[in-house]
Amino acid sequence: MRYEGNIYRPPSEWQSYILQVTIGCSHNACTFCGMFKDKKYRVRQLSEVLEDIDMAKSYYGSVDQIFLCDGDAISLDTKDLLKILHKIKRVFPDIKEIATYASPKGTLKKSKEELELLREAGLTKAYLGVESGDDRVLKATHKGVNVAQMTEAGRVLVDANIELYAIILVGLAGKEGSKENARLTAKIINDIKPQHLAAMTYMPVPDTPMYKDLQEGKFTVLTEKECLQETKWLVEGLDRFHMHFNSSHASNYLPIDGDIYSEKDKIINILNEALQHDITNLNKSYRAL
Ligand code: SF4
Repeated sequence: MRYEGNIYRPPSEWQSYILQVTIGCSHNACTFCGMFKDKKYRVRQLSEVLEDIDMAKSYYGSVDQIFLCDGDAISLDTKDLLKILHKIKRVFPDIKEIATYASPKGTLKKSKEELELLREAGLTKAYLGVESGDDRVLKATHKGVNVAQMTEAGRVLVDANIELYAIILVGLAGKEGSKENARLTAKIINDIKPQHLAAMTYMPVPDTPMYKDLQEGKFTVLTEKECLQETKWLVEGLDRFHMHFNSSHASNYLPIDGDIYSEKDKIINILNEALQHDITNLNKSYRAL
């Protein structure tokens, strides 16, 4: 298989064949993110991508899931993305899932009709880095959109019937803004109503602008307990609707997995207990609900 540079995928795509359709991220400006800082964004030659699909067929025989990378394959021209999806369907007629990262700006460039066409052609899942529901945080981290635009990006994906994984970063507002960040992030998630909410924890990445802020004392990373407290405030603010909540990313201190509609109280109880005890022991006890 042919890949350029480091490749990233969401943890839930661990079984997917990774197909690189863009190099890097078209935005590449978020101050906390170092994933594609070494890459200059470009769209990969369509002929190469189509060849890779044939190569995957000879190598794997069949695949059930494909993840389109790098940063936001959704920013590709719709015609080209459709050609890729059609080719995947021809080569792997039994494919079950095709997923991509979806940057908010890349998503908003597509009309509802285009997104529906992509869904019909097989794009079943999108991962949207919502990060925070606080306009001040989105602005400070150079996310490139405000809360209203982020909400719109999430809503159009859900409305196009593309299964949405919203990703948020606990701790992105630092200590001072933690409670408000949790409240507003719960609000944006209630407004978008994704099927999945992946809560990750902000971890400083060397050579990023936020890392510099941290070194200069302009930002404070939350402690373990402060992260759990922010997560608790967040979960408390979530409306009861069917949404799979997951905090089992390696960046998190306490892996929790559950449905917000039926298990919200249970999740809050676990967080309450964790806040009263030694977290190291709780990691063993509450690996999952
Ligand atoms: S849009 Fe995503 S991949 Fe691109 S810089 Fe921001 S966080 Fe990183």
